[in-house]
Amino acid sequence: MKYLNLKESLSECEINPRFSIDIASVAEGVRDFGLLHIEIYQKEKTIEILQRTNCNIINFRDLKFTKDLESREGMLYDITGCEKPTHCEIWYCSINKKIDPNFDPFINPGEFLGYPKCCVSKYESTSGMGLFYKEYLFSDNKIRYNEINRLCTLFFPNLFMPDFFPCSLSCEEAKEFSLKTQSIINLIYTKEEIKETYRYKLAPILLTSEKLYCFPNFKLENQRLTLIVDNLTQFVNLRSVLDTKYWPSIDGKNLLVNFKNIENTEKLFIESNGIVEELKFELI
Ligand SMILES: [Zn+2]
Repeated sequence: MKYLNLKESLSECEINPRFSIDIASVAEGVRDFGLLHIEIYQKEKTIEILQRTNCNIINFRDLKFTKDLESREGMLYDITGCEKPTHCEIWYCSINKKIDPNFDPFINPGEFLGYPKCCVSKYESTSGMGLFYKEYLFSDNKIRYNEINRLCTLFFPNLFMPDFFPCSLSCEEAKEFSLKTQSIINLIYTKEEIKETYRYKLAPILLTSEKLYCFPNFKLENQRLTLIVDNLTQFVNLRSVLDTKYWPSIDGKNLLVNFKNIENTEKLFIESNGIVEELKFELI
């Protein structure tokens, strides 16, 4: 595990260790540039970490964090006048990358980061993250790819892709981009961590009584899906994820979020303490 130190130093600096994949993908040449958003007090240490990981700092800018009014996310803005910055955006590239001295990553950030155009333009045209979560949770009749299942971060910290928001969980190009970084996960995570993270990427998500439940343990046989309630089962309140103005009508329904691995589910069961009960549901 070449990047074990990287992951540990990020944790010590109170930065989410899953950003290791953002940094390692640049250090390994999977993509040309990366950026990190960190709190202002983490700036010096982050620069040291990047330099120790064979990355050159290209540029940075100070930003101000505001809670997104529409979703669980935060938004970062350029500071104006005498506002105090709370965060910093640091751009970096591999030490082997030759850059033009006039290179300015802020001209077209999404393109330089290697993110798909469709995802970049959606991100740039939105003022809050509500539309993203609405799309992720309530896009009818679409098959979502487990490879870009960002929803699992509601329940589990790791995410095997750089920290970006696909335009939808059905975006082919975002899936391709994410797959490019799969080649380096063995350099960052242990076998156990990889196994556990996949478990959450595949875990069915059920919306019931305004709560999103995640079932890492489940069985799927002959299009019959059984969700197993055990100590790994978790939930979050939908209100804490997405503003109610984006909710469809969910009164009394059980809504199963349709991912590729469970796409043909015809019958749904829930198993708790050995007792199995069938649930009426809709795939969304
Ligand atoms: Zn896209």
